[in-house]
Amino acid sequence: MPADVAHAERALNLLQTVFGYPNFRGQQAQIIDAVARGSSALALMPTGGGKSLCYQIPALMRDGTAVVVSPLIALMRDQVETLNQCGVRAGMLSASQSVENQRAVEAALAEGSLDLLYVAPERLVQSRTRHWLDQSKIALFAIDEAHCVSQWGHDFRPEYLRLGDIVERFPTVPRIALTATADETTRHEIIERLLGPQAQVFVDSFDRTNIRYRIGLKHNPKAQLLAFIQTEHPHDAGIVYCASRKKTEQLAQWLQNKGLKALPYHAGLSAEARHEHQARFLNEDGLIMCATIAFGMGIDKPNVRFVAHLDVPRSIEAYYQETGRAGRDGAPSDAWLIYGIQDIIQVRRLLGESLNNNAQDRSRLEAMLGFLEHCNCRRPVLLGYFNEHHPGHCGQCDNCLHPPQTWDATEPARKALSCVFRTGQRFGAGHIVDVLRGVSNERVLRLGHDKLSTFGIGLELDQSQWLSIIRQLLAKGHIEPVPEGSGGLRLTEQSRALLKNETTLACRIDTVTRAKKPRQRVTHHEDPLWARLRQWRYELAREQGVPPYVIFHDKTLEAIIDARPDSLEQLGQVHGVGRHKLKAHGESLLEVLWRDSVSH
Ligand code: ADP
Ligand code: ZN
Repeated sequence: MPADVAHAERALNLLQTVFGYPNFRGQQAQIIDAVARGSSALALMPTGGGKSLCYQIPALMRDGTAVVVSPLIALMRDQVETLNQCGVRAGMLSASQSVENQRAVEAALAEGSLDLLYVAPERLVQSRTRHWLDQSKIALFAIDEAHCVSQWGHDFRPEYLRLGDIVERFPTVPRIALTATADETTRHEIIERLLGPQAQVFVDSFDRTNIRYRIGLKHNPKAQLLAFIQTEHPHDAGIVYCASRKKTEQLAQWLQNKGLKALPYHAGLSAEARHEHQARFLNEDGLIMCATIAFGMGIDKPNVRFVAHLDVPRSIEAYYQETGRAGRDGAPSDAWLIYGIQDIIQVRRLLGESLNNNAQDRSRLEAMLGFLEHCNCRRPVLLGYFNEHHPGHCGQCDNCLHPPQTWDATEPARKALSCVFRTGQRFGAGHIVDVLRGVSNERVLRLGHDKLSTFGIGLELDQSQWLSIIRQLLAKGHIEPVPEGSGGLRLTEQSRALLKNETTLACRIDTVTRAKKPRQRVTHHEDPLWARLRQWRYELAREQGVPPYVIFHDKTLEAIIDARPDSLEQLGQVHGVGRHKLKAHGESLLEVLWRDSVSH
């Protein structure tokens, strides 16, 4: 057998026996092959793409210990526990451990009995750690969240700049850098500072095919959210992003009153509360986190089934990253956002106030507004941010599922603009619509607006249709809020062309979005066995002091329900059941299945 074939077979064999997965995803096989052979590599993959295996498998293929640098202690702990569950010898060094614990890990390293050592970056640059490394055989260096080396990014870590010097001291040891941040600048910085020009670059598709993106209109946000959760995600874990701290707390309380498990999370909570809420989110099933964007990096719970937004994210990239926390395990998940005219006014106001802010921030917000009102498949726009081409028609976004109707609203739009002008460019949407529709209420009469030429020129549309047009005019930048005003609207430079009939305006016809029937997962979750398996997993996890998903992922439990194995051999064939887990949990799992079958 040629050597390279043997190599590939060995990697696949490890994937199947140790991790229990049938085949590699995306570019995993190529990346593993390169690193196992001693090349350095940069792996750009989306969240949930499967970055960890790209260094874990080469670590098992090469002699010595793989050194993994990761900035997130909670994430390291998870990884080490997951690996130990799979029978892989992994340990970690971080400031959060006891001294004895650290000594034990150092001893194991010296003995050469560790396959992987996870180290916090500030720990790696200490001379004590460097001393240990000099004495050891190192299989490879893996640098996770490698974008932390970029000084221009959000997650810059100064210690990452020093990692380059450390790895330089081991010129023959291959390095792999991994990140989900894919822009050109960051990519170049990673190569220059951590890898060197010889590194091979692997770019995976950033399309999260298991996420269904839906954006709808707000009318009663809390009730809409509740209906969405109750019909589509009862008992599921999810994140609801809100713009303010207060809102996260109010919403969590409200959901609790409705009988759901919900907690708030924001930077204003005490460190203990934040820690406790995060731990509960990771360890308990079906908890809903109402959070500000402070709840972000390092949330690698694999079975977050939905991410909901009740406020508009700052940019399309932010929307992609935030929604990307759903479905790391690859199972169907939902990104769900609702917005209304008030949200658009708020964003526009922000744009008005931040005139002196940088142009990039402004154009990002502007693009986000355009994205909300976009009429075609959402994926080409999302992936455009990663310079990735998507042909559209994904079938899994609101616009593909229910193609919006558009109509030529140029005439009514001009009427609305001239009404804004005639009333003096200082009234809000409600009043403008009243004047257009010829409503002689107290305010209209008091202001004498019933005498205006635009009074009653809009009887052909109802109130909600007019509000929809005004919302879209705002989103497209034809009108904007008066600065520091009390909700008044005024014309912009851009509206001139529309008023002069030099351009036209196509508007979406708004439809009411109702909660959808959940996707195929429900059948599993309705099975009584599902609850039993989860209970079994929960108890086992508690006994061992690890999160449930470290024992088995939801996906594996579902595969067990499908397969209903009645022997260890059959169980060993199930997705996510590796050799070690089969040995550790096989018997007790078969017992749960057996009890289930006799109770029917
Ligand atoms: P990332 O770090 O890229 O966000 P992870 O490495 O945590 O992603 O992997 C995400 C999930 O996908 C993990 O639960 C992992 O076990 C699973 N996974 C990775 N590769 C495969 C594969 N080839 N087959 C099945 N599951 C996989
Ligand atoms: Zn689509």
